[in-house]
Amino acid sequence: PQQRRPLIAGNWKLNPSTLAGAKALLQLLAANQRAVETSGRTDLPDVAIFPPFPFLAIALEMVQGTGIKVGAQNVGLEPGPGAFTGEVSASMIASMGCQYVLLGHSERRTVFKETDAQINQKVHLVLGEGLDVVLCVGETEEEYEMALLESVCALQLKKGLSGVQASQLSSIVIAYEPVWAIGTGATPTASAPPAKAHAIIRRLLGEMFTPELARGVVIQYGGSVTPESVDDLMRQPDIDGCLVGGASLVAEKLGRIIEYT
Ligand code: PEP
Repeated sequence: PQQRRPLIAGNWKLNPSTLAGAKALLQLLAANQRAVETSGRTDLPDVAIFPPFPFLAIALEMVQGTGIKVGAQNVGLEPGPGAFTGEVSASMIASMGCQYVLLGHSERRTVFKETDAQINQKVHLVLGEGLDVVLCVGETEEEYEMALLESVCALQLKKGLSGVQASQLSSIVIAYEPVWAIGTGATPTASAPPAKAHAIIRRLLGEMFTPELARGVVIQYGGSVTPESVDDLMRQPDIDGCLVGGASLVAEKLGRIIEYT
C-alpha cells in the first residue's frame, strides 16, 4: 500500500481576537515545532495551521524554518482581480506562500449557507492556483442517527470533488468531521464511528477515482480531538491525521497531538 504521511492541522476559526494574541500563539507553536523537529523522531506528521486571513502574513513569517505549513480557512468565489469588495482570492493566498485552503467546513456550510456547488467552485479555484485543498465532510447527529452517514459523505464528496481529475487527487486532503463532534467536547472513540467512516470514505473515493488512488489520500479526523483522544484515533488504519479546532489554540495541547504515540 502507498505510504500516507499523516497531517495534523489546527483550525483557528475566528481566534484569537487580536494580532498580539496571534503573535503570542505563533511564537509558542514555532518554538514547540522546533523542539519536536530536533527530538530525533523520524515518523513525525506534517503540521499545518489555518489562521484567519489577517494573520496569514505574520504566521508565514513566524513559522518560517519550522516546517509548519500555513493555510487559509476559506477563499472567495471570485478569481479576481476586480471589483469584488471584501473578497479574498485563491491567487492572493497562493502568492503569499500558503500551501492549503480549508473548504466545506461545517461552520461554512451551516452558518454561512455554503452549498456543495459553491464549495466545488472553490475547490477548482484553489487547485488552479497550485494550492492543496482540505475538504471537510461529515454528517449531523440527526443524519447519523438516521443511518445517513454514508449517503451524506458520498454526496458531499461527489459534489465537492466534481470535475476533479485523477491527476489532481494528490492535492486533496479529506477531513471527516461528524458535525455532532465539532466543538462539543464529545470525545470520539476510535472503535465507534470515526474508524468506520474513514473506511467508508476511502471506499467512496475508490469508486470515484480508483482504489489505488484512494489509498494515497490523507483522510483526517476532526471533532473535539484532544491530547487524550489522539493516540487511539491515530492507531486506526484509515485515520491519517487530525483537524483540530479548540485544542489547536493551546500550543501545549497541539504539541502533544503532533507527538501522538
Ligand atoms: C474544527 O474546527 O474543524 C474542529 C474539529 O473543532 P474542534 O476540534 O474544536 O471540535
